[in-house]
Amino acid sequence: MHKIKDAVVDMYEHLPVPYGLVRFGVAPDHPEVKNCQEKFEEVASSPRFNFIGNVGVGHDIPLASLRPHYDAILFAYGASKDKKLGIPGEDLNGVYSARAFVGWYNGLPEYAGLNPQLDAGEDAVVIGQGNVALDVARILLTSIDTLRKTDITEQALETLARSKVRSVKVVGRRGPLQAAFTIKEVRELMNLPSVSFEPIDSSLFPNEITKLPRVQKRISQVLAKGSAASESSATKKWALSFLLSPKSFKPFSETSIQLSSIDFEENAFAPDSDPFDRNAKVVPTGRTTNISASLAFRSVGYKSSALPGLTELNVPFDDRMGIIPNDPYGRVINPQSGPGILTAGHVPGVYCAGWVKRGPTGVIASTMDDAFTSADIIAKDWEQQVPFLNSSDDCNIALGWEGVKKEVARKGLRPVLWADWKRIDEVEKERGKAMGKEREKFTSVDEMLRVLDS
Ligand SMILES: Cc1cc2nc3c(=O)[nH]c(=O)nc-3n(C[C@H](O)[C@H](O)[C@H](O)COP(=O)(O)OP(=O)(O)OC[C@H]3O[C@@H](n4cnc5c(N)ncnc54)[C@H](O)[C@@H]3O)c2cc1C
Repeated sequence: MHKIKDAVVDMYEHLPVPYGLVRFGVAPDHPEVKNCQEKFEEVASSPRFNFIGNVGVGHDIPLASLRPHYDAILFAYGASKDKKLGIPGEDLNGVYSARAFVGWYNGLPEYAGLNPQLDAGEDAVVIGQGNVALDVARILLTSIDTLRKTDITEQALETLARSKVRSVKVVGRRGPLQAAFTIKEVRELMNLPSVSFEPIDSSLFPNEITKLPRVQKRISQVLAKGSAASESSATKKWALSFLLSPKSFKPFSETSIQLSSIDFEENAFAPDSDPFDRNAKVVPTGRTTNISASLAFRSVGYKSSALPGLTELNVPFDDRMGIIPNDPYGRVINPQSGPGILTAGHVPGVYCAGWVKRGPTGVIASTMDDAFTSADIIAKDWEQQVPFLNSSDDCNIALGWEGVKKEVARKGLRPVLWADWKRIDEVEKERGKAMGKEREKFTSVDEMLRVLDS
């Protein structure tokens, strides 16, 4: 159903390929998660939708050059940075961000040259206990033959095949009942063939697990079962280590630039906190633990940043939260702008959705729900004739892509339209077929564009 009659939607994407983190974030051994691409295909098949890839807004073309051609602009550019720990040694060889590692094995052009040193030693540490951390651990521990059947890049497969990693510790600053990972991801790691799990200290769980709230109860049961299981044929192992905050990454010697171990500050539950409560707080004990590691992955979250040119559009950016401030429906608000038309600080015609709206948390389903809310509010505002971009300009004709196209051509950019992407898609699938996998992704923008010239 079309909520705004005759509306046209143009989607600008800075890469020549669509799908964002569904292509470059979601783990290659979770193909079922990528089914949401079908929904995308359905939308893209509309004659009133234009995909304009290979055009980075605010980078390749200024945001200001879109403004005169649209009634509304919705920002959904995700979170393309990662949070740093800000501790000594973070730049040592062997220390990677999970975003870079995930991007590398998924073929994100930005990280094609990462070349992680997986043969530097046997011990890897992942800092952070969310699902991305567990994805990293699983990819490090899964057998090459299993990964070979997925759409993980050949380049990543070759490097993983040479990996010496035998042990992966996934470290968090609080306890098991406060960890952010979900049950499916823990269970998958517990079920990996030939991989054992280091038992968790039972004092981190209450005596009566069954009395915990449902989600915590189920996770605790899986962890307790995993702690009791023994895997005699294990060649690799993994562990969840709790109540540790990273303090510094240590090199082999003062002159070495290679990671050798990590110092962690030991934490304890705050005296006024219930250790089995989801929101329990921890305090440092002043004691330090050192863990050997030739590889470390910091997995403490993604971060959005301000797009160049937001200010000219009167769009603020909240650096601390890493979001564009918005009302509960996704209308952008600028707290500096006074009362506003609909809500305080309402910026007419500007909306947001996804991780740049809510912060970098949430799965595809919640991101989609949230995007539907933003779309519904645009339709409602339009119906109610609320001012949009350029509303006060009598001669405004929203030309959309037709209007922007000239500027894109003038800058010598090569826009990749939906039909072009389908060609790239087809060639990736052909390459994959020859290797017995779903697809073999191109890992550079040049390679993607070359397909269109052939
Ligand atoms: C490693 C990882 C694994 C995940 N696994 C799962 C999972 O298994 N299941 C699940 O449900 N969820 C998973 N998620 C969460 C899911 O990927 C996100 O909820 C969702 O992708 C967020 O959507 P988004 O549109 O906000 O951002 P994105 O998916 O990042 O999309 C933003 C898009 O904007 C583009 N862009 C950025 N800047 C510009 C610019 N200046 N101009 C034009 N385009 C630009 C980017 O290239 C990107 O394509 C995972 C997330 C990560 C990080």
